Amino acid sequence: MGTPPDYRGLRIGLFGGTFNPIHLGHLRSAEEVREACALDCIYFVPAAQPPHKGGSDLAPATHRLKMVELAVADNPYFSASAIELERPGTSYSIDTIRSFFTALRPASLLFIVGIDAFREFATWKDYVLIPKLCDLLVTSRPGTPTPPSDQFLPVALQTLFWYDPKTNVYRHTSGHSLVLHEIAGLNIAASTIRGKVRAGKSIRYLVHPAVETYITHHALYQPEGASR
Ligand code: ATP
Repeated sequence: MGTPPDYRGLRIGLFGGTFNPIHLGHLRSAEEVREACALDCIYFVPAAQPPHKGGSDLAPATHRLKMVELAVADNPYFSASAIELERPGTSYSIDTIRSFFTALRPASLLFIVGIDAFREFATWKDYVLIPKLCDLLVTSRPGTPTPPSDQFLPVALQTLFWYDPKTNVYRHTSGHSLVLHEIAGLNIAASTIRGKVRAGKSIRYLVHPAVETYITHHALYQPEGASR
């Protein structure tokens, strides 16, 4: 048996999403966060069975994972995680964070979420447990208004954190932080990509070229009734 890996001092980002499909907005946001926070790695974690997003235009999780793998392959700091496809049932962030927490201990974890998704945070399963395990970083999202950093906390979270106006950081009793991080980013949404594919329009420069090829090859996001 070899020496177990040493995760001391590592700072790992976790970026969950439906990634239906992953687009350059996701990648650019993650790159800006990685650089700003000097992260050692960011895991992109596609939700196999997203609790909040479903519908007929949700591509099978295996395709969404493959597209994430293709999109991150050329960035040494990015990795795709299949953890939510390996776990049966609805994909809850708390379960994923717990698994990473246990597997990568004592690395510190930063859970990355866009402000639009963060607005729903108090509806997530066991959301009060999440800041006990990791820091939270909420990114702005082009096209979505960014509130001032002392006003973006949903009411349900206000008793869990206190705000330090000197650093613009919210602190949890565990010591973990919650920050709003302004990104330049790219105003791209997966729903726009799906709409363009359905309409037979180009998605070039909106997704990684390998993802564009994959979507074409597997005839993803075609209109209802079109052959797959
Ligand atoms: P859809 O259009 O289908 O709702 P989406 O583009 O919002 O999808 P998701 O996979 O649902 O993509 O998003 C995963 C995470 O990435 C969320 O935290 C979301 O806020 C964030 N995100 C999505 N698009 C961007 C973007 N263009 N810039 C920054 N963050 C983004």
